[in-house]
Amino acid sequence: MRKKSIFWFRQDLRLSDNPGLEHACSIGDVLPLYILDDINAKEHAMGQVSKLWLHHSLNALKQSLSGNLHVFSGNPLEILQELCKQHQITDIYWNRTYEPWQIKRDTQIKELLTTQNIQIQSFNASLLWEPWDIKKSDGTPYKVFTPFYRKGCLNAQPPRQPITAPKLNYIESQPKHQIDDLKLLNPKVLADHSAWVIGENGAQKRLGDFLHHGIEAYKKGRDFPAMQNVSMLSPHLHFGEISPNQIWEAVSHLEEDNNVDHFKSELGWREFSYSLLYHNPTLPHQNLQSKFDRFSWIEDPKLLSAWQTGHTGVPMVDAGMRQLLTTGYMHNRVRMIVGSYLVKNLMLDWRHGEKWFWEHLFDADLANNSASWQWVAGCGADAAPYFRIFNPITQGQKFDPQGEYIRTYLPELSQLPNQYIHSPWEAPPDVLSKASITLGEQYPNPIVELKSSRQRALDAFAKLSGRS
Ligand code: FAD
Repeated sequence: MRKKSIFWFRQDLRLSDNPGLEHACSIGDVLPLYILDDINAKEHAMGQVSKLWLHHSLNALKQSLSGNLHVFSGNPLEILQELCKQHQITDIYWNRTYEPWQIKRDTQIKELLTTQNIQIQSFNASLLWEPWDIKKSDGTPYKVFTPFYRKGCLNAQPPRQPITAPKLNYIESQPKHQIDDLKLLNPKVLADHSAWVIGENGAQKRLGDFLHHGIEAYKKGRDFPAMQNVSMLSPHLHFGEISPNQIWEAVSHLEEDNNVDHFKSELGWREFSYSLLYHNPTLPHQNLQSKFDRFSWIEDPKLLSAWQTGHTGVPMVDAGMRQLLTTGYMHNRVRMIVGSYLVKNLMLDWRHGEKWFWEHLFDADLANNSASWQWVAGCGADAAPYFRIFNPITQGQKFDPQGEYIRTYLPELSQLPNQYIHSPWEAPPDVLSKASITLGEQYPNPIVELKSSRQRALDAFAKLSGRS
């Protein structure tokens, strides 16, 4: 007998390689559903930039479902109960999500609805390996990336092969709400999404482009923010418009070299972040290394605002922060540079950075964002040591030697010669004047001195470690 089920889309906004959807279709008629759940998410509710992406992604999904996407905003338990009653639905399927509040919510829904004779089954559609499957031989979770990935993941069962999109038979019912009713678009958002094709087709196209024109020089090129060697798949992955299995499978067909190996290991970092979050649910707000609870962070709203808006007077930092605000994306190398500058040179708490990124990234992802910020701050599991402080000038000279990236996001510096593009304050007055720059007017003077602020951070760390 054909069953009637709900398939609840969450961070898997695609039809292909979607195990939960495939299962729902295999047993009968389906009601495809998306619920915006800010109620349970509370402080982890999506930022406005993520919501912009979600708006377009839901539209793309709805189109793929010939209009049959039911969208709601509110309490999932009540919405699911109501829909089951209304359509005599007996089964609900979803793919697992891993944020602590989602796990808590899903467990409660499952317990409650099961007592009401509704069958619930969940699937893995967004990780290559489940966090509970990759453990050390003593049964505890890995704390260091390389053994996690090389010993744990690569020795475990290989990732599941992707599956094709199923044929859907819909439960007949007119969607009650429009995607516009979710009010996901905020006119104040500056991030321009025109460089992306949001949705499953766009994700597949992005992967195809990367396989043809990026991966061949990924290992080296990935450090140069003006080059096109990174995949830019992160928002597609976050919203599940593409699965990591589809990417893993596609790159596995290429000849295995340093580039392919390195790219796969970056997908491994994503798995590692999810494992860290799963095993440490307080990761988004609590230092993994508790000694950092005693760290003497500075509170200075003016410094924070200069960093947030890209007005620190350090071009590599400001270019990154402006890229974030105007495009909703920031290159990984630059994320590390602006992160190090915030927590070390400015000595502001990493949680300010985590929050700002959460609000402004298209790919804002609780696991990746919090694990990366803890890594940058030096308080995480497998963290860069606190005393390793990026110098934004030498980083810029090394990875943006012609200042191409800086000139893209800081047009006010575009006339400066390469020699001074990373440190305009060192330029002689006639060079500045020829480039139409008066420091403090078109572009700020540095808000902190790099050398002394570096030393201040080192001293604070030595104090924390009891070395002074
Ligand atoms: P590629 O280099 O093409 O890598 C492919 C995929 O691997 C990425 O899409 C991503 O899913 C994964 N990946 C790559 N690097 C990392 C990494 N270091 N950690 C975890 N996964 C990785 N990534 C997010 O997806 N969301 C975030 O909110 C986020 N916040 C970050 C905050 C800081 C301070 C730092 C330093 C890094 C952060 N990252 C985050 C990780 C990384 O910067 C981005 O995943 C990457 O820049 C996305 O671009 P890409 O898709 O072109 O990456």
